[in-house]
Amino acid sequence: MKSRFLILGSIVTLIAISAIQAYLIYNTYELKKKTFAMDARNSIAKVYTTQEVDSLSWIYRNDFLNQLELYENSKISKSEVLKNLETTTREINKSFLKLYEEGIKKTDINFDVKIKVSVTDIIILDSLTTVDEKILDSQKDSAIFILGNNFSSKDAMLINKSTWQKELEDSKQFKDLHFKTQIYMNLVDWENVIIKELSVLLILSVLLFAFVIGLLSYSIHNLIKQKRLAEIKTDFINNITHELKTPLSTLAITTKTLTNKYAEGQTEIAKETIQVIDRQNKRLQNLIDQVVNNSVGYDEIDLSLKKFKTIPFLNDIINDYKITLNENVEIVRNFIETDEKIIADKFYLGTAILNLLSNAVKYEGTKIEISYSYNEKVKQHIILVSDNGIGISKRHQKLIFEKFFRVSEKDRHNYKGLGLGLYYSKQIIKAHKGILEVESKENEGSVFKIIIPKQ
Ligand code: ADP
Repeated sequence: MKSRFLILGSIVTLIAISAIQAYLIYNTYELKKKTFAMDARNSIAKVYTTQEVDSLSWIYRNDFLNQLELYENSKISKSEVLKNLETTTREINKSFLKLYEEGIKKTDINFDVKIKVSVTDIIILDSLTTVDEKILDSQKDSAIFILGNNFSSKDAMLINKSTWQKELEDSKQFKDLHFKTQIYMNLVDWENVIIKELSVLLILSVLLFAFVIGLLSYSIHNLIKQKRLAEIKTDFINNITHELKTPLSTLAITTKTLTNKYAEGQTEIAKETIQVIDRQNKRLQNLIDQVVNNSVGYDEIDLSLKKFKTIPFLNDIINDYKITLNENVEIVRNFIETDEKIIADKFYLGTAILNLLSNAVKYEGTKIEISYSYNEKVKQHIILVSDNGIGISKRHQKLIFEKFFRVSEKDRHNYKGLGLGLYYSKQIIKAHKGILEVESKENEGSVFKIIIPKQ
């Protein structure tokens, strides 16, 4: 409960920290975007307000005034005035772009920024400032592009609106020209530029995060491992004390009986009692040997390798083992003949197979199948021990090969054991550079697979 709370707490904290970090990075990005736009705007203003650009503007303005006069005198049409404006500005634009690009290069911005100047309205007002004439009307006509790059206004930012106002000299009455322009700027690929500038920050936070997540999962993993080890230790101590109790109490009683019987001179009964003492002593010795011998690692197992035929070897083991079984256990052999001999240590490999066999019987298998085949393609000897016993849940399958691990007694009947058999078998197979694995389904049975590669 406590560790679950701890793990949940750490995960929630980690998520909260991630959210804060993401929010901070997003804020930095937005701030950078604003600074970007401001810098770009200032640079454009610097370039656009030079004398050279002003002189260029006056070329098309003067030309426009001339055209307007022709129009007022009904010499040309309204559309011709606008057409002419477009033609003149197109010619000027080349020089404007050159001036603009040179100017922008001199400023300290390190990204590409384009501008577009267009006319939205051209209105002539009379002396009462009422509209006399609309040559270009933003309500009806689309704006005319005059200078810069003709990009779409949709992905651009409006940075300036201005009106060039000019009194027109007309002999009959006073007239005022209002020539309204708009300037748009387009920061080319600016998102990428910002991301590039933020990349060090981004990479660093991702790395830091990966590190923290790694550290956390390592700690959680360790915590779970420690907890499991503690449980295994308690189980083992309970098991071994239980196993020791029976022979020890038997010994205590028999010693007492022996003393009494000797005193009474009943040597025949005393002899039997000595045999009981001897058996219990052997049992104790056996238990201790099991713990000492079966808990060695694979690198401590000293194999004496021999080349032999697998099937006769398996038959010998099964035949010897069968004698110890009662009749309701059936053993089926399923061997595929091969000329390939196995190279192994007969004693150790036999011990591992016997462990699997006795587990199959202990965990309530009544039909046990032992299969053998040699896979020519991958050059492996494969021995399977299958049973129809109680099976092992998915959760426990990973753990059963650990030293002293036993499936908790709480969940099932009491089966005797110290949790060393599968650990030791795995170490033996590992010493043969092989693999021992399990496939099992609860209440259906288990299949243990030994793979020994051709040496
Ligand atoms: P032990 O049998 O002494 O407990 P093992 O190392 O041989 O120790 O096995 C570890 C655990 O694996 C056992 O406690 C048991 O729960 C499970 N197990 C092993 N073999 C089988 C099997 N054939 N069927 C079901 N469970 C098995």
